Amino acid sequence: MVQKNKTFKASWSYDPAPESTDHIQIKKKYDLYIDGKFVKPENGKYFETINPTNDEVIAEVALAEKEDVDKAVRAARNAFKSWSKIEPKERGKYIYRIARLIQERSREFAVIESLDGGKPIRESRDIDIPLAANHFFYYAGWADKLEYAFPNRNPKPLGVAGQIIPWNFPLLMAAWKLAPALATGNTVVLKPAETTPLTALKLAEIIRDSGLPKGVVNIITGAGKTGAEIVNHPDIDKISFTGSTAVGKYIQKAVAGTHKKITLELGGKSANIIFEDAAIDQAVEGIIDAIFFNQGHVCCAGSRLFIQESVADTVIQKLKDRMATLIVGDPLDKNTDIGAINSKRQLKTIENYIKIGLDEGGEIYQTDCKLPKKGNWCAPTLFLNLSQSHTIVQEEIFGPVLAIQTFRTIQEVIEKANNTPYGLAAGVWTQKGAKLFHLSQKLKAGVIWGNTFNKFDATSPFGGYKESGFGREGGLHGLKPYVKFE
Ligand code: NAP
Ligand code: MG
Repeated sequence: MVQKNKTFKASWSYDPAPESTDHIQIKKKYDLYIDGKFVKPENGKYFETINPTNDEVIAEVALAEKEDVDKAVRAARNAFKSWSKIEPKERGKYIYRIARLIQERSREFAVIESLDGGKPIRESRDIDIPLAANHFFYYAGWADKLEYAFPNRNPKPLGVAGQIIPWNFPLLMAAWKLAPALATGNTVVLKPAETTPLTALKLAEIIRDSGLPKGVVNIITGAGKTGAEIVNHPDIDKISFTGSTAVGKYIQKAVAGTHKKITLELGGKSANIIFEDAAIDQAVEGIIDAIFFNQGHVCCAGSRLFIQESVADTVIQKLKDRMATLIVGDPLDKNTDIGAINSKRQLKTIENYIKIGLDEGGEIYQTDCKLPKKGNWCAPTLFLNLSQSHTIVQEEIFGPVLAIQTFRTIQEVIEKANNTPYGLAAGVWTQKGAKLFHLSQKLKAGVIWGNTFNKFDATSPFGGYKESGFGREGGLHGLKPYVKFE
């Protein structure tokens, strides 16, 4: 049963102030960026990228097939000969230039990211785009200091890296992958996701304008099959993949027995743990941020909430009250908290999980917000009355749906939090430092946030355990997957 909120009404009386799309250059048709120029796909096929708020076509985008992947890999292989040998500080200069160009065009990037993917402009403007620039700045600094990153080990680039990224943080994931690969002297073939190719293509324009030698970065668009062609290409030395655990497993099998090195950043079902001694109001903000940031399309989303029993009623009431104030709507409106669900397919997946949650006896609460008629939308949702065996506690939903459980003891919550095939992130809310350090040792997760959640920084490593993948991106650790030692 859907409970209506009794305390607040979702506010729709704000002044709508959508970010203008004037002066944002979006072409009608995009080609593949191979060997320093935009080229048509060999078979002349294109697919549409859709605005998730109104189902309208934004642009047509080239569909790369085997021949195009081959061409891109050849360009990258050719470029590797000189790119891997140029003065490291020269490599750094190009990467700095890319970082600065992203900063200069940040408004354009933010608007395109929100149009193509559905995320609130406040997030793309304040988080995704600045962080993407920061990754390039950070790794530019490492380019001529690799001997200090790996003392006495003589690091060498691997060769051609195939990089495949998802749709939830399109430009940011491209930056996470490109910046360390370039700093270490590799060349790249990168494929963005089918539903969000536009910022990667804008980045291709910037890369061309930066004067980066041709073939060092090739950006090709397409569907899952294009990704598989990259994975299976015999002349690729490294696969770096961010996406679902299912595709990650397929990729791991596909490269088994080859010379290819592999990094996998996969799914998650991260625990967010609220102790009775936490600063409750801050923790409630943290819960909101953990699950509703980017519509919950976040691999490390705090999608399993554990509240200590003595404060559960208070936290749940405050959480419902706060949820009711969240504004769901136009991603280009600066007041929007929750934008559009990225695709029809993802919306169906989320709706299916909500149905399963109800069928299995979960108690749902959704805010009373009006959802736009066209496009893909999901009201912020939480579920109570759950146990560890519920499907929505076990499986990644990748949407604005929170699964809540309570606990009594620290031992109990550690066991529950770790009882998942995933191990990407966790959050702990407590005023006691000792408790925080204890949990950071006991929780099996790659990232553990203390009294905060979903904070990212170019200097700190990110990555998972178990079915959340292996290898790290960000920080000094993020260089390692792109070098070999002689
Ligand atoms: P996905 O379906 O696995 O797709 C990811 C990328 O792989 C897309 O570019 C996709 O292309 C491509 N792809 C699909 N099938 C492929 C195949 N057989 N071989 C090679 N490439 C293939 O995942 P998604 O739905 O886009 O993203 C959501 C998932 O990513 C979630 O599970 C989330 O947790 C995870 N994720 C993890 C992290 C992390 O850092 N751990 C970060 C973000 C997201 P198309 O889009 O063209 O099909
Ligand atoms: Mg789109």
